[in-house]
Amino acid sequence: MGELEAAYDSFVSAGDIAPCLAAFNRLCELLDLNPCSPDFFRHQLAKRRSGRHWRAGQLLSVLHQKASAKDYASGAAAAGCRALVIGGGPCGLRTAIELALLGARVTVLEKRDRFSRNNVLHLWPFLIEDLKALGAKKLAPHLFSGPIDHISIKTLQCILLKIALLLGVDFLPGVGFEGMEEVPPSAPGGASIEDNGGSQGFRCRVDPPEHPVARLEFNVLIGADGKRNTLPGFRRKVFRGKLAIAITANFIKRGAAEESQVQEISGFSYIYNQKYFNDLRQATGIDLENIVYYRDDTHYFVMTAKKASLIHKGVLLRDYDDPSQLLSQQNVDQDKLKAYAVEAATYATGGGLANMEFAANHCGSEDVAMFDFTELCSAENSCRIVHRRGQSAIVCLVGDSLLEPFWPTGSGCARGFLGALDCAWLVKQFCSGRCSVLEAIAERESVYQLLSQTTPETVRHLFDSDVPELGDKAPVKFPYRDVDQPYEQERAFLRWL
Ligand code: FAD
Repeated sequence: MGELEAAYDSFVSAGDIAPCLAAFNRLCELLDLNPCSPDFFRHQLAKRRSGRHWRAGQLLSVLHQKASAKDYASGAAAAGCRALVIGGGPCGLRTAIELALLGARVTVLEKRDRFSRNNVLHLWPFLIEDLKALGAKKLAPHLFSGPIDHISIKTLQCILLKIALLLGVDFLPGVGFEGMEEVPPSAPGGASIEDNGGSQGFRCRVDPPEHPVARLEFNVLIGADGKRNTLPGFRRKVFRGKLAIAITANFIKRGAAEESQVQEISGFSYIYNQKYFNDLRQATGIDLENIVYYRDDTHYFVMTAKKASLIHKGVLLRDYDDPSQLLSQQNVDQDKLKAYAVEAATYATGGGLANMEFAANHCGSEDVAMFDFTELCSAENSCRIVHRRGQSAIVCLVGDSLLEPFWPTGSGCARGFLGALDCAWLVKQFCSGRCSVLEAIAERESVYQLLSQTTPETVRHLFDSDVPELGDKAPVKFPYRDVDQPYEQERAFLRWL
């Protein structure tokens, strides 16, 4: 096998940030390419693709097809835009990819240096189509082959990172965003870690503070750092429901034949399966409102447990009204929590998983967690414009930073990706000068109002080239609305919903 093939295979098989970046850099070295060049994918790699036959060809063909969509204007739609994305979670990476396809130069800051989240996400059908259109199946052929469509967060992040790198995104692990600041007038214009096409007026503070990215100037800032959003200037609405406590647990998958016989559970809930949950309570004392089991990289379980049963089983030491006190470290018996998770998982799988051993989490500890989701936050607005000394920057939220999902609906990534596409549309509008900044923001906000109403059914046609049965109620087409008639399309979408 040639060196190039070997480097590409290492890139495809890389399962974490460091090996992924190392393999990609090696690939670039062999091809004599600049890893973070906007031309990386579009011109240089494409040229090589036609020149010789190598394994990357199939992936590049899929990406080429994607990149040739009219909306991207061959990468000219957001050329001149310098975007900084905070957070390399699924939605930050998806936004980075979309902005790179539009031709923006994109840097992603990720404060962690590893992708280690075992938890498994159920994906809406349109999201699977979206991932396939980005070449995900060429990077992980086994994806979406089971009866239930799911993916572990770390695998999803790895796939999106690889696609982002191929499109020229600069990914900086181990760098935390701390704040946005304007470039002082005395500072040398355009100083950055690379040529970013002149002064953009804004920079960021990061941890570690001396990291060169602190000198990078940008005019688009995307907050994709999850529900603990660090971007100031966004008011948040809090939805408070009745006390809800979730437990997640990941067990090592051994690949034994018996394991594959065990039925996955896409979601049992008390209201539809009362007998199941009553039997569970009688047999074990465990009282749940719902349970999910996916066999993915791990055996993944997530369940909502009732407080009384957690107290009864000794998981919670004392009863408190305040959820943060109730679930504080001091009030949780970790061993009892593990035993609770194992017992619930054993019941749910009919004892079909032998030797249940917890997988390791990001700290190397046994991967079981309990958290409160009584409160869900969403931002009142999805974006704002910051003006300073004649310079403007768009600041947007995406993913959980924008709209924290109610996890049992499995809507997080789907709505997160839709928000990412809408955010990219705003950036495109901002760059095109086709409408005023205020019009672009108004449109973005009106679309944001629809986001929480989306369901797998209402967005199922996003990938269809035509949807005749819907007539004039056709939904927005993926990835964007009709460029010439955005408001017409918007109204059609509203009617259709
Ligand atoms: P995150 O995944 O939270 O990523 C944020 C990233 O930002 C992290 O990598 C973090 O390290 C980084 N970061 C944070 N602060 C900084 C900083 N200051 N600087 C730099 N980087 C920073 N969704 C589904 O679609 N389907 C499901 O089945 C599903 N099940 C779920 C089950 C549970 C129990 C839970 C809790 C959630 C579930 N979700 C599900 C929701 C889903 O996990 C989230 O919607 C999704 O992970 C959000 O992605 P994100 O990129 O917005 O944020």
